[in-house]
Amino acid sequence: MFLDIKDLEIRPLDFEEEFQAGVIDFADGTRQRTPLKSSGRAELVEEHHGKHQIVKDIRLRGQLSTRLELQCARCLEPVWQDVKREFELLYRPLGADAGRDELSVTDAEAEIGYYQGDGLLLEDVLREQVLLALPLKVTCREDCKGLCPQCGKNLNQEQCSCSREIDDPRWAALKDVRSRLEH
Ligand SMILES: [Zn+2]
Ligand SMILES: [Zn+2]
Repeated sequence: MFLDIKDLEIRPLDFEEEFQAGVIDFADGTRQRTPLKSSGRAELVEEHHGKHQIVKDIRLRGQLSTRLELQCARCLEPVWQDVKREFELLYRPLGADAGRDELSVTDAEAEIGYYQGDGLLLEDVLREQVLLALPLKVTCREDCKGLCPQCGKNLNQEQCSCSREIDDPRWAALKDVRSRLEH
């Protein structure tokens, strides 16, 4: 859904949208499991810079919710994550701040972004907001044992018979160095 600055010049836009999985492309390993619902309002905010310049900002307020499937950072099993977020954002035209020392931000509370050309794609905004809401790493449970580094078995599900002492030729050189340091 394109938020066109020319439409917003006429009137604010109230939106209520639902995006099916696949419409918005999230990061690798992140899958959308329920429709992403978002509602809110977009409006134009005019900033007067001096006597002659008017900067047209887009203010966007709203909320979103969806459910995502992520991967456990340790065992790679799927982890479901509900995402709910409210946002209040201000988008300024790209380049409007060029050469200015001070931002005359109308609303200090709002996060600031930039738009290019005639407006802003709502999908891009939502994608960014979802990614900001996600934790950097998720684990399926606090004590997830992860995968065996040797055979790759999921140690939450089964024990493997690999020895914990790693006898990899790549480690042999290191061991050698260590024993020389110790003696
Ligand atoms: Zn796990
Ligand atoms: Zn193993």
